[in-house]
Amino acid sequence: MGKNDDSANTGLGWLMKTPGRVLLWAVAGLSVVPPALGQSRCDNAPDYFAPVTSGDGQRYPLAIGPLVWHLVGSGVYPVKGSDGQTHLAFAVQFTNAWNLPATIRSVEVLDPAQNNKPTGKNRVLSIKDEDVTGLVKLASLPPGMDKASYSATIGGSATGVMFFDVSYADGEEVPCAIALRVHEVQSENKRLPEATVVSPPLKVSGQAAIVLAPPFKGEGWVNANGCCVEIGPHRFVTNPVNGTLQPSEQFAIDWIKIDKQGKAFRGDGKKPEEWLCYGAELMAVAPGTVVEATRDLPDVPAGEAPANLTIAEIAGNHVTLDLGGGRYAIYAHMAPHSVTVHVGDRVKTGDKLGLLGNSGNTTGPHLHFQISDRPSTLDTTALPFVFESMVVGGRMVANLEEIEEDSIKGVALKVESKGEKAVVRGMPLSRDVVGFGE
Ligand SMILES: [Zn+2]
Repeated sequence: MGKNDDSANTGLGWLMKTPGRVLLWAVAGLSVVPPALGQSRCDNAPDYFAPVTSGDGQRYPLAIGPLVWHLVGSGVYPVKGSDGQTHLAFAVQFTNAWNLPATIRSVEVLDPAQNNKPTGKNRVLSIKDEDVTGLVKLASLPPGMDKASYSATIGGSATGVMFFDVSYADGEEVPCAIALRVHEVQSENKRLPEATVVSPPLKVSGQAAIVLAPPFKGEGWVNANGCCVEIGPHRFVTNPVNGTLQPSEQFAIDWIKIDKQGKAFRGDGKKPEEWLCYGAELMAVAPGTVVEATRDLPDVPAGEAPANLTIAEIAGNHVTLDLGGGRYAIYAHMAPHSVTVHVGDRVKTGDKLGLLGNSGNTTGPHLHFQISDRPSTLDTTALPFVFESMVVGGRMVANLEEIEEDSIKGVALKVESKGEKAVVRGMPLSRDVVGFGE
């Protein structure tokens, strides 16, 4: 996994820009029974494709343009974040089906049930906080996480991924389906120099985010790589796995711990044990069954990316819990020989699973935690989750790139705080500093 190699993005984790890519992986159990997938207000939404019985019978206009697109992953999953906003965070693969370059002039997210009016507020940022809204991360460009990897122009036959974070102040405003309206220009094509294309409705999942208990206790836990507005080392990952592009880490969190001064370790941080988070007891976030448990991999030195890992070793020592309802919690990079559960064990919320470590594809101790829709680390769509309760003490000032680099260098990380905020059933967002109590 060379640092300029596409495969470097496979890591479950915290991908460092250079020279190392940290993979913070942890699996968490769901603390609370997954919410019932009860009657959704969208269950009776009309079938967009059903024939109409009046007028000229035409259901919707047709438009030809060179760009085609489809959702990456198993669905569009809404989740309420710690900011109180409901987020639709998803990725769409765009391909230019013709042989001349096409430039995207605008992309609008629409509500088909409201006569295709724009819906929500769509905005995404690179790892350096550059605005990359409506741009495509091209497969033909080096796989960096800054704006240089994005473009509005897709060459003939080229492909790439566009990321979205469509947010709503009121969760009730989230539409039952969305569509995209793309204005595309291809000046070299004299017969069709431009086109405006609207895609058919794409259903928004009615599945509520699973509610969890915390994976550990204590204060000062930093969401160093998470959702939603930033396209960092987790959201950025859309690996081609077993023939499918997968957003396998789109809602994953890399947790590190800082002290009151904002430092992540004592000493020079070269030994994993010097990190404040190292050895933290990891607990089941919900009742479940252990379906994967790896325990004998060594810790890797902190501050550098390990070389020559196999795909099976990327998550390091890890535990996967089947929480039911098609949700699997994954805790990655655990300490050697610390995993205390075995495949087939039933666990209750709060049961001990093992200790936070630095094994696998990681550049510094952290817990990589995520919920997957399959018992797989890579061949899966990561799903959103919320904690039943947490206290958000502030937000890191540094962008995701700086958080990773500074934490490894031992630079104190600055926290911006307007006081502690109790959050009920919210998902920690990138840069949040979270406490779960003792
Ligand atoms: Zn991670």
